[in-house]
Amino acid sequence: MVRKTKQKEAIFQVLSSAESPLSPAEIQNRASLLVPSLGIATVYRLLKTLKEMKQVVTVEIPGESPRYEISGRAHHHHFYCRKCHQIFELGKCDERIEDLAPKGFLVQEHEIILYGRCPSCAP
Ligand SMILES: [Zn+2]
Ligand SMILES: [Zn+2]
Repeated sequence: MVRKTKQKEAIFQVLSSAESPLSPAEIQNRASLLVPSLGIATVYRLLKTLKEMKQVVTVEIPGESPRYEISGRAHHHHFYCRKCHQIFELGKCDERIEDLAPKGFLVQEHEIILYGRCPSCAP
């Protein structure tokens, strides 16, 4: 179905140009500029498909609904603003973090989420 493909492409395009992980509602907002009449249920369904196809990944923050970003991005971390609930992408990584594991443990990967206030919400 042509229409379905167009909707999926719009979602993919929105995520490709996003500067940080987006919620389904944010994705719907931006994608509806490309494909008007894009419903939230469709966004959820297509995100599920894109995730199964490994084209998008979820960013999970405990107690928050998952956000989505394009898969295969360079290694990065996230900052979660407790006031506006936005998630920001952090480009920096200190690989010495893996030294936290005691001797004898093999670290295969790590995930870091920093919590606090973003510049707009900082007191
Ligand atoms: Zn904020
Ligand atoms: Zn890292």
